[in-house]
Amino acid sequence: MRILVTNDDGIDAAGILALARALVSLGEVMVAAPERERSASGHSITLHKPLHAFTRDLGPNVRAWAITGTPVDCVKLAVEALLRDPPDLVVSGINNGSNLGRDVFYSGTVSAAIEALFLGIPAIAISLASPDGPGFPWAAAFVKWWLQNGYEPPPAGVLYNLNLPRLVPRLPTEVRRVKLGKRQYQNEFHRRVDPRGHEYFWLAGSASDETEEPDTDVGAVARGYVTLTPLRLEITALDLVPIRPGHLPIDADAIRIPSS
Ligand code: MN
Repeated sequence: MRILVTNDDGIDAAGILALARALVSLGEVMVAAPERERSASGHSITLHKPLHAFTRDLGPNVRAWAITGTPVDCVKLAVEALLRDPPDLVVSGINNGSNLGRDVFYSGTVSAAIEALFLGIPAIAISLASPDGPGFPWAAAFVKWWLQNGYEPPPAGVLYNLNLPRLVPRLPTEVRRVKLGKRQYQNEFHRRVDPRGHEYFWLAGSASDETEEPDTDVGAVARGYVTLTPLRLEITALDLVPIRPGHLPIDADAIRIPSS
């Protein structure tokens, strides 16, 4: 199996290194990751400046590139330019911090997996709530075990979002398949004043995960479970907005172009 590892925490992140080294025994491992942290970059891509891909030494049997772009750039560039053949699997992680509920729309970790899906490659996003305790080494060993024992390839058009809870005070005992929660953040913007007297804002705040239902990813991770949430990208809602008839004829005579 040929596995492409990526994530938004940057090529030097402990989670990427631990994951790449754990997966080496499963097959051929390639790493394509941003050369610096690009967390919360969502699905952005680089159009107006060049992308450089610098080879990096991440240990034996790992081919790695540090790329001057976003996580999505990394997957696109690796698959479409750097690798001779597309990988069999893209694993994005292990992210430093969970990606739960609405996080998935902001997350570079999840977006890298989504890009793999766009390219027709099975993809998994993996995030660890907190690196405390056994942290990334345990998480990477768990992922390797799960890929060999619990994993079934996602159906076409589906990616997996896997989240690991805090590993202290106890290790998780179960993988739960759950839906996305909400994950509301409180006190999101700090308001400050810069040295020249201009007001500025800094996004901060924390989520109150414990109040969410245990059948959601947010609630289950807060209760110490590993969660697996299958995500699909078909978000069209024609079934909820049934327009009859389906096509509206345009009355061209009724549309007046404003004169400037
Ligand atoms: Mn990140």
